[in-house]
Amino acid sequence: MKKEKKFKVVVTRKIPPAGLELLKKAGFQLKINPFDRILSKAELKKFVKGADAILCLLTDKIDKEILKAAGPQLKIVANYAVGYDNINLKDCQEKKVMVTNTPGVLTETVAEHTIGLLFAITQRIVEADRYVREGKFKGWAPMLFLGTDLRGKILGIIGLGRIGGEVAKRMRDGFNLKIVYYDIFRNFSLEKKYKINYLPLKTLLKTADFISLHVPLSPKTYHLIGWPELKLMKKTAYLINTSRGAVIDERALVKALKEKLIAGAALDVFENEPKLTAGLKNLPNVVLTPHIASASWETRSKMSEMAALNIIAALEGKKPPNLVV
Ligand code: NAD
Repeated sequence: MKKEKKFKVVVTRKIPPAGLELLKKAGFQLKINPFDRILSKAELKKFVKGADAILCLLTDKIDKEILKAAGPQLKIVANYAVGYDNINLKDCQEKKVMVTNTPGVLTETVAEHTIGLLFAITQRIVEADRYVREGKFKGWAPMLFLGTDLRGKILGIIGLGRIGGEVAKRMRDGFNLKIVYYDIFRNFSLEKKYKINYLPLKTLLKTADFISLHVPLSPKTYHLIGWPELKLMKKTAYLINTSRGAVIDERALVKALKEKLIAGAALDVFENEPKLTAGLKNLPNVVLTPHIASASWETRSKMSEMAALNIIAALEGKKPPNLVV
C-alpha cells in the first residue's frame, strides 16, 4: 500500500507546547527551529524548504523570497501574533498562500500590560525601584518621587479596536478616568456603552493627559506620532505604546523627552527592534519593556493553539478560522 505523504509544518521558533501537540495529533511532520533565537533571512530560507505550512513570528519577515524558498506546495503562513505587518500580504495572495493571525486571545493580556505601563510611568515605579536598589533610600521624604494621579484625568486612545476598547473599559470603570478616542472608524456602540467621546486626532493630542496607541502598523499609521504631533501634546502628558514601534517616530520622541516637550513615555515596542534609538535608554522619564505585552503563560498557550488550528484547517482543505487573506 502506498504510504500517505505527511504534511510538513515548520515552526520558526519554539512556542508553548499546546499548539505543537495539536499539530502532532493531526499527524503532521513538525520541524521546529532548534535555536533559541531569530533565524537570519538565509537560515529562514533554508528552514522553510518543502513546508506545507509555516508557523512564524512577528520577527520573521515573510515575503516572496521566503515563499519561493518554501516551494509551490506551501498553503499557509500562520502568524503567531495579531499584527501581521511582518508579512507581505500581496506576495502571499499572488502565490495563493493563506495568511492567518491570532486575534482576540491576547486582547486582555495586552490591555493589562498597557495599564501596567501607565501605572509604572506615572507612579515612577521603575525609577524608584532603581533608586532603592542603588542604596539611595535614606527614609521617607515629602518630595521624593512625586508622580501623577490618574483619576479624573483624560485618557486618549488612538485605535479603539479590541485592545484599545479593553483599555478604555478598564480605565473608565476601574480607575475613573475620562476616555476620548481617535480611530478611522467611529465605534458608536462603545461610545455609548462606556461614555467615550470621539475626537479628531489633533484635538485628542491637545486634550489628553495620557495617550495610548493601539493601531496596527500600516503605511497610514507609520510615524502617526511624529514631531508635529508630539508638539501638540501637553507638557504634562505621557505616551504609552504597546502597538508597533514604527507608529512613533522614535527619534522625534527622544528629542521631545529630552526637551521635556512631554512628561514621559512607556514603550513595549520599538521602531527598529531590538535596537533602541540613541539616547532612549538614558532617559529617566521612560519605561521600556521588551515587546512582552502578550507574554502571559495563558495567552501565549492560546496563541499557540490558535495558530495550530489555523494550520490544521488549511491543510485539511477547510477555511482557517482566522484568515487574513
Ligand atoms: P484591532 O484591529 O481590533 O484594532 C485596531 C484599531 O485601529 C481599529 O479600531 C482600527 O479601525 C484602528 N485603525 C486602523 N488604522 C488606523 C488609522 N490609520 N488611524 C486610526 N485608527 C486606525 O486590533 P487589536 O487586536 O486591538 O490590535 C492592535 C495592534 O496591537 C495590533 O495590530 C498589533 O500590532 C498590536 N499588538 C501588540 C502586541 C504587543 O505584544 N505589544 C500584542 C498584540 C497586539
